[in-house]
Amino acid sequence: MPFPLGHSAIGLAAYHTIDTSPRGRSPWKVLGFVVVLANLPDADVIAGLLLHGNGDLYHRGPTHSLLFALLAGYLASHAWRLGKFIPRLRFSLCFLIIFSHVIADMMLTDSPVSLLWPFEVHWSVGNSGWGHVIQSVIFNSLQDVGLLLGSMAYICVLTMVRKWLPEFRVPALARRRIR
Ligand SMILES: [Zn+2]
Repeated sequence: MPFPLGHSAIGLAAYHTIDTSPRGRSPWKVLGFVVVLANLPDADVIAGLLLHGNGDLYHRGPTHSLLFALLAGYLASHAWRLGKFIPRLRFSLCFLIIFSHVIADMMLTDSPVSLLWPFEVHWSVGNSGWGHVIQSVIFNSLQDVGLLLGSMAYICVLTMVRKWLPEFRVPALARRRIR
């Protein structure tokens, strides 16, 4: 089950998959923003804890859906207007980073997500208080080391392929289309 560390690593891999022009952006601001976006769907845990002391109450509902990723991705792509501390990322990037969380939860865990909400909804079952959630975030994140290493390896391979793939091998017509 991915925890914040795993979701952050997967979100970073998603970011590097489609962002080919990272120049001009502060890498630390981008890293911070990617970590926030990659974990945004789990804000439902915070909502459950704050309102009812149960992090499972609203978990895996609307925030774990395609619609949420689209809406939150759109808002996130305009969040740079709030201040210089937020990097300017285009909608497709923000959407993909948020949606990577939903896909990871769907593929790497047994519990369903509400992918097609509002047409379907699957709430998490259980009762997790503050102590359990904090303990899980701190200690269970260690389980995500494999996801972190896998994502880092993927980003390294991607970077090397892009660097070594000579541009002259790409036909002129295709190059024009790529641009
Ligand atoms: Zn989640």
